[in-house]
Amino acid sequence: MLKAPNLSELPWLEHGFGLRDSSYPEPITTVKQVHSDHVVVANAAPCEADALLTIDLGTRVGVKTADCVPVLLADTRQRVAAAVHAGWRGTASGITARAVREMAARFGSRPEHVVAAVGPSIGGCCYQVGPDVARQFGTVVTSPIHLDLAAINAQQLRHAGVSSVWIAGECTFCEKQRYFSYRREKEAAGRMISWVGIKA
Ligand SMILES: [Zn+2]
Repeated sequence: MLKAPNLSELPWLEHGFGLRDSSYPEPITTVKQVHSDHVVVANAAPCEADALLTIDLGTRVGVKTADCVPVLLADTRQRVAAAVHAGWRGTASGITARAVREMAARFGSRPEHVVAAVGPSIGGCCYQVGPDVARQFGTVVTSPIHLDLAAINAQQLRHAGVSSVWIAGECTFCEKQRYFSYRREKEAAGRMISWVGIKA
């Protein structure tokens, strides 16, 4: 399990970014991920969303990825934890910043008290997209370009007022011993779980 130094500093929090061979604590609350910008508070009800928040002691929230960007958030004052799944659609619609805004709206979080960790995802080295996707990021081109989704999410977090942003900086496509990659392994790819929780 990969750990973010800035989240590890919080004694009340537990977290991890899964690797290929990770085993996970139980339970971890996940939802059906649909590449949306929907942010929900974790509870037992099944729903479709791509970001999960919790303030409950003993509750862990997680997202499943294999190339998409997992982002874990923690409000150091109000003790809110969040897990975000940001593929290109979620990144283009700003789901990570939206999760920070929802933390503020629902639990009174202030962005300057939020600590963020951007986990392993397909890197700019390996993530090539066509003109249609490039246009979603404000780039008008006629041939494919490389996108660094982790860097874009980090930028969105800083723009939202989050001061502590850690980036794993590992590419799931390059690091085939460590990570599943949907682009590399296609339908055979497993999923890593990135999770965060408030200790009971
Ligand atoms: Zn790569």
